[in-house]
Amino acid sequence: MASTPLRACQKAGILPQSLKPGQIFQQYRYINDYRDIFCASGRLYEAESAYHHRVQPGKRGRNLWRCFSVDNTTEEVDDADTIVSIVTGGQQGAVSIVRLSGPEAVDIVGEVFVPGRGSKSGAWDPESHRIYYGNVIDQSGTLIDEVLVLVMLGPRSYTAENVVEIHTHGGGICASRVLQCCLQAGSRLAQPGEYTLRAFLNGRLDLSQAESVSSLVSARTVAAADSALAGLSGGLGEEITEIRNACLSLVSEIDAHIDFDDDLPPIDDVAVSEKIGNVLDRVERTLATAKQGRLLRVGIQVALVGKPNVGKSSLLNALSGYEKAIVTDVAGTTRDIVEADIVVGGIPVTLLDTAGLRDTNDAVEMIGVERSRAATKSSDVLLHVIDASLGWTEEDSAILQGIVTTDSSSDDSDLDESPFQTPPMMLLINKTDLTSDDESKIVRTIPKSVSKFFSSVIPTSASTGTGMEALHNGLLELIGAPTMAPGGVSWAVNDRQSEALTRAYESLVQVQESIDSQLPLDFWTIDLRSATLALGEVCGADVAEEVLDDIFSRFCIGK
Ligand code: GDP
Repeated sequence: MASTPLRACQKAGILPQSLKPGQIFQQYRYINDYRDIFCASGRLYEAESAYHHRVQPGKRGRNLWRCFSVDNTTEEVDDADTIVSIVTGGQQGAVSIVRLSGPEAVDIVGEVFVPGRGSKSGAWDPESHRIYYGNVIDQSGTLIDEVLVLVMLGPRSYTAENVVEIHTHGGGICASRVLQCCLQAGSRLAQPGEYTLRAFLNGRLDLSQAESVSSLVSARTVAAADSALAGLSGGLGEEITEIRNACLSLVSEIDAHIDFDDDLPPIDDVAVSEKIGNVLDRVERTLATAKQGRLLRVGIQVALVGKPNVGKSSLLNALSGYEKAIVTDVAGTTRDIVEADIVVGGIPVTLLDTAGLRDTNDAVEMIGVERSRAATKSSDVLLHVIDASLGWTEEDSAILQGIVTTDSSSDDSDLDESPFQTPPMMLLINKTDLTSDDESKIVRTIPKSVSKFFSSVIPTSASTGTGMEALHNGLLELIGAPTMAPGGVSWAVNDRQSEALTRAYESLVQVQESIDSQLPLDFWTIDLRSATLALGEVCGADVAEEVLDDIFSRFCIGK
């Protein structure tokens, strides 16, 4: 019977003989300076919560992780495995890429690849950063595809390991046959985000850079991609590392006073407080980027509401620049919600053209009206559209009332008394080209009880395009979007980083309170250490295995 890693480790005297597979056990030690063995009762990534393994990026070298699972089977997750996957998405492109990473990448490709036009002869010993032309053959010698092979030997590669890419013909079949050949030759399928995880563990990227890779791939706008690129070049990681180092040196300074109180002059609490103040400012400035990050990543949903025929569909078309909604002059055409994805000031905006919110007996239109009501509630901004030639009408009041009263049983509540429960709203006075009245005259038709709901009033004409820029600017102002000049987009923190930074901020505030209340020095360092730990989670200097697992599982396969 082949010996399991547990037996092998016991034979080598690494693990105690008494250890049974499945037994709860924790051990962490070095073998030949570079291997950590970690055992727990569950699978590696479902380790006992009691065990809190912290990863030290860049310091692990090629680690062998072994895990003895509860059902007596042994699982080996060896990050010195050579991994493989198709890294190009979709089936449509002319070229697909199969990427291998790991110590055996060159040898495995050597098994399946015949360089040039000739037949296989001898070991393949490629140079780094060169492209080789040739054929992929399977184990029986059958031709699989004509390919280009790009070799990037570690550490000059994305993962800092040996990376080999096989560029196959596109269309899906060729790449998956080449992938099968590589699997048969000894590589294993990569898990989601595993290439980037290896780049992080090998010290090639810090954690915030690794997360930027994911943001870059999923960016929906040019500004979001620019921001992710700024993160990828390391700006956030550098800032956090500097802030963390400032905290660490304060910890050492205070520790020295705790340990050698008699030999040192008393600590200068004003100076320490000042340094904490500086660190707090920097954390605060970093946290302030979270809003921009969220807007760039998630974007906003904006719903056009109003009675039928005021020009909602036309405005959606004008804003999105193409005919997406059906525009007719028969009231009630827009029976369901039409969506358009547009970009406003670099922010992805999902624009919803709702069915005219009005009482109707038409069953189909009724469903549309109901959906519209739901959409208005979930939107970040509402654009209430009225017709300039008609001004504000009773019907508009009824629609607004329907929006501001969330409880349908209180339909007859007075607008004067309605609590302000809606998303922020702007009033668009559309079809201004149909009237010679100036804006102020139309605005005067709006009752006071109504105007309080609108943050701004913007005259527009979907037909002539008037007011579109004012609408863009008004929208950005309303959501508090920071001005993002082209090329001036900076990195921004994501939700995970923002949560860790908030914890760091709170701990630092606590330190200042301890200083102000003249509490003993131990109290200062407890919170300073918490702040340092939280900051370490942002750049990955000090991060729990399960956090890494969570981050990288959200990547796509091949990244
Ligand atoms: P919706 O029911 O609110 O979506 O309104 P539509 O977008 O379908 O427009 C109803 C009618 O008004 C169509 O005939 C449009 O061409 C017309 N319309 C929309 N916006 C304007 C505008 O700004 N000026 C003029 N003159 N006509 C408009």
